[in-house]
Order: sequence, then structure tokens, then C-alpha cells
Amino acid sequence: MTFQSGHMRSIIEEFRPGLKPFEAAYRDIHQHPELGRQEKRTSEIAASHLRTAGYVTTTNIGGYGLTGVLVNGPGPTVLLRADMDALPIRERTSLPYASTVETIDTDGEKKPVMHACGHDSHVAAMMGVSTLLANARERWSGTLIILFQPDEEHGAGARAMLDDKLYSKIPKPDIVLGQHLAPFKTGVVLIRSGVFMASADTFKVTIFGRGSHGARPQDSIDPVVLAASIILRLQTVVAREIGPEDVASVTCASIHGGKAHNVIPDEVEIILNIRTFEPSVREKVLAAVKRIIRGEAIASGVVKEPDVDLIVSYPLTVNDPPATQKLTEVFTSYFDNNRTWEAPRHTASEDFSLLASSIKVPSIFWNFGGVDPEKWEQYERTRDPKLIPNSHQDNYAPVIEPTLKTGIDAMSLAALTFLKTDADDGG
Ligand SMILES: [Zn+2]
Ligand SMILES: [Zn+2]
Repeated sequence: MTFQSGHMRSIIEEFRPGLKPFEAAYRDIHQHPELGRQEKRTSEIAASHLRTAGYVTTTNIGGYGLTGVLVNGPGPTVLLRADMDALPIRERTSLPYASTVETIDTDGEKKPVMHACGHDSHVAAMMGVSTLLANARERWSGTLIILFQPDEEHGAGARAMLDDKLYSKIPKPDIVLGQHLAPFKTGVVLIRSGVFMASADTFKVTIFGRGSHGARPQDSIDPVVLAASIILRLQTVVAREIGPEDVASVTCASIHGGKAHNVIPDEVEIILNIRTFEPSVREKVLAAVKRIIRGEAIASGVVKEPDVDLIVSYPLTVNDPPATQKLTEVFTSYFDNNRTWEAPRHTASEDFSLLASSIKVPSIFWNFGGVDPEKWEQYERTRDPKLIPNSHQDNYAPVIEPTLKTGIDAMSLAALTFLKTDADDGG
């Protein structure tokens, strides 16, 4: 163990608060999930916790976004981010603290709500982190920013906070750190240098044809047939235009057109979801998709070209290599008994990195596991994916401990790695 990591272990062990209140906060937030843009209750719980712990808070940034700042002498400024929103899923976990919440979404529709992505654990762990680091303030110096972000699942919350002038309300950080619960063994952290998570682009494509009576196809330009050609030809983008050494996915996630059994409709709408790991591959895939949509429309003789509108865009998540190397050494030393794993690249996406890339500072994002150890062992033997419900599934049920403790320790260690501690002066 290096002097520095031994020193950090002593800070964590001395100042980590009792975990019971944070486990209770986790159950409470799990039972009261809120959809993106509606995280009022969750952000109020987090804000009141931050104020009690001695942070200066700013509320309602880009919706229910919240920051707490602790200025603690000279040194770097470090921002820690947790997201707060839940998903429109009906929970089927049979946990004693399962959600039965239904709510009216911002689109006016009534929806069930569930924390199926672990953002409840991010909030509860970050509350623990804020207490630990405030308790330990004599052992570090610098400026600490705790940020609770709304609306991650729509890919819009980080952007909304930035558009609401986040960095004129709080100091500009030197580094931005974030973590996400993942379907791996509890007690484990997973980290990777460089590209970690995919960029994702979602397009709404509106295809304009010409409707007619179902019995008179010769009067129509049938947008259903045109949509079918587009969707089939899009399957060639990854298969024929992207080399096998690159990774991309092109998914047609929905298609809607027509209402009556005897009418050819005027329009068809399709939703495309595109994921890539390299900016150059992304450009190539997007250009090919747009070319095929236009080409097939011309082949059908349309009068008006299709509209292709970008509706959601997530950036690549890229971990700064030098900073990640430093943090990986700290994790590896602290989470002994092989509890620091190399994270696989994810095709999932996050808007986290905008908080750093918008001001051109480095960032690191990592995972911590939430799967019961016995189930994990069974899974390792059988590789049966049914044993481990993934996030965004209605039976997603991470174990509370040592998941929360690992999340608190990992985020606190990461903050201390980049703040100034007395170990930096040689102890
Ligand atoms: Zn999610
Ligand atoms: Zn998530």
C-alpha cells in the first residue's frame, strides 16, 4: 500500500458516518421515485441534507438541479455528480420498499414510476459522501462541489443545468467525477481508461407519401412501403459500411403509420437509435443513415423529402487517462481482495461528461456493483442472464449493502484523490 492510499483509508474509516440513515434514505427514495423534470421531493431531501452538513446550496438549476459547495482553503476544485430521476416502469420486485407510484408525466400521460437505474443509490451514497467529506474537512483542502442532476434518462438534465448558467452560479471545477450502479457483484468497483460508454443519437424520421383508398394504390405514394425499404436497407449500414474492428448499432425503435384497414396513410414516423464509440464512426454512420433515407425516398418518387430530426443526443463518455490511472491505483489499493475490476466498454450512454467537456476539464466515470454475492457466483457458473436483472428492467433489485458503503467509499476516495490532502505535503 502506498503512503497516500493508506492515508486516505484512515480518513475514510475515521470519518465515514454510520450507514443506517443513508440506507433509510435509499429505501425512502426508492419508494418515492420521480420521473425526469419532476424530481422535486428528491432534490429537497438532498438540499436539506447538504445544508445540515454545512454546504452552501443553490437550488432549481435547470429544473430541480442542485449544488452544494464547501470552500475549504486553497487547493483544487472537485465536482461530484449524482443523478436523481427514475423511469416510467411498473416495479415488480416484491421488495418491502417497492414503488407503487403512478404520476402524470410532463407529456400529460399517467405512468408508473420506478427507480430501475439505481439513481436512488447514487443520491443516497452522495448524501453519505457529503457528510463524510464535511466531517473530514480538517484533513483536506480545496473546494468541493456536490451536484445532484435531474433528467438524466431523457439525456437532457446536464444540458439544462449548463444552459441555466451552472458555472456562473458555482466555481468552475478542475475535474468532474461520477459513478453508476451496475449489474456486477456488490462490493466491487469497475473503472476503465479512455472511451467507456457509447455516444447515442436518436432521430425522429417523418416520411411523407401520398395517401389514398386502400383499393387504389396507383393513386398513392405509399409511405409504409417506403418505410419498410428504409428500415431494411438501414441494416446494411453496420454490416456493409462499418469495418468489423469498429462498433456501431442502428436500431429502428418504433414505427407508426396509418389508422384504418382500407386507407393508405400520408405519413409514417420512425424512431432510430444509433450508438457508436468513435467520433469518426459516428459521422460515417449518421451520413450513411441520412443518405439511405433520402435515397429510398427519391426512389419512391416522393414530393417532399423526409424530415430527419435529432431528438436526443448523448455524448461519448471518455475517462481522462492520466487522472484515471491515478484513481485506479487508489481504488486497487483500497478495494483489496480483487474488488477493483477493469470495466467493460458499455453501449449504454450518459450525459454526465457534458458537465466537464463544456468547460474543457477532465472527467472520470466508474461503476460499482449491486448484485448479491451468491447470485453472482451462480451467474459466473451458469452465465444465465435471468439471474441478474439489468437496469431498466421491472425486477431490478440491487442489494443495499455493501453496495451503498462501496459507493460512499469510492466517491469519497475519488474526491480525496483530487483534492489536496495532508498526504500531499508528505504527511
Ligand atoms: Zn438509465
Ligand atoms: Zn442511469
